[in-house]
Amino acid sequence: PQRIVVRDLASRLGVSAAELIKQLMRQNVMATITQEIPFEVAAAVAERFGFTVQRPKSSEERFLEELQQAARQPAQLVPRPPVVTIMGHVDHGKTTLLDVIRQTRVAAQEYGGITQHIGAYQVETQGRLITFLDTPGHEAFTAMRARGAQVTDIAVLVVAADDGVMPQTIEAINHARAAEVPIIVAINKIDKPTANPDRVKQQLSEHGLVPEEWGGETVMVPVSALRKEGIDELLEMILLVADLRELRAPVDRPASGIVVEAQLDRGRGPVATVLIKEGVLKVGDPVIVGAVPGRVRALMDDKGQQRQEAGPSTPIVVLGLQDVPQPGDLLMVTPDEETARRIAEERAQRQRAEQLRPTARMTLESLSRMA
Ligand code: GDP
Ligand code: MG
Repeated sequence: PQRIVVRDLASRLGVSAAELIKQLMRQNVMATITQEIPFEVAAAVAERFGFTVQRPKSSEERFLEELQQAARQPAQLVPRPPVVTIMGHVDHGKTTLLDVIRQTRVAAQEYGGITQHIGAYQVETQGRLITFLDTPGHEAFTAMRARGAQVTDIAVLVVAADDGVMPQTIEAINHARAAEVPIIVAINKIDKPTANPDRVKQQLSEHGLVPEEWGGETVMVPVSALRKEGIDELLEMILLVADLRELRAPVDRPASGIVVEAQLDRGRGPVATVLIKEGVLKVGDPVIVGAVPGRVRALMDDKGQQRQEAGPSTPIVVLGLQDVPQPGDLLMVTPDEETARRIAEERAQRQRAEQLRPTARMTLESLSRMA
């Protein structure tokens, strides 16, 4: 029950309708005896009469409680690939490095495979997978973190050997630290005659990143993205650091994931790239993504291949959402479409209320000023 008629509320509170209406007026609510008032207003006025009010649970609350209960059961944990973000100062070679890793590892092995630009991709090395977030720069990273979404397991910090530590290098270090994500340094552009890797190590040490060979704990790999040198070593180090973290995820849970990219496609409708965190997302699953409900109509991987399902750390394109979600939004599989629809409604309502609040306050302030 989201609303209640004034008369019914009065009888439940055991007061006269006139008394109730008077109290409502004191709270700036003008209502007649037959009028319906929203739950929040009813609750506030009931408290004035000395009642404590229990809010009916929303669909979302009930859904989350069920999830929490399920989460208490022992889970079947499986190893999952590390999720890597590449960070660093502008022009230090992030895009080149991402492209080179993708080319050397994907195109060469996936015969005839077309790599899709979906905001993330997976590469295979030593028979194991690594997931790269393809949105270089800190913006995506911070935007997602600001929304409470932690997707990255390892940050690769690209520092150009000729340029050294720059402002955005330091920013990247700070972001990774704040997120408690281990950093691997790729000292790039070692092919350049002006390259000075030792100077980079020295500078990084001043910022608390001391290379292993100097007795520190930070893995630093010299690379040349341009000449495709040091790439295998870098990938190997990523796996090594990943192993220390023992990355695992439950698979026997309703699937969840984080949106890394989303847009409206003319032909296919809303399209979202989701990085799966837990469980296995399947075609046909009802989902709620932020405030957007849907049912998975199709799944597509980074090679443009249709998939029936996607497990932890897999970046997957999801079709079948009713609207375009935001990067950082959490995707969750719901028991049925009705639940997804109701949660979406509640969230949209809450968003509208939050948007309205400052305006409402302003109006009240200007009213009291006028009075
Ligand atoms: P981003 O801004 O960090 O994404 O940097 P880009 O990948 O766009 O690279 C900036 C410039 O540096 C481009 O002209 C690249 O060709 C060049 N570059 C990238 N990696 C290397 C490298 O290993 N050696 C050399 N010499 N140039 C590189
Ligand atoms: Mg770039």
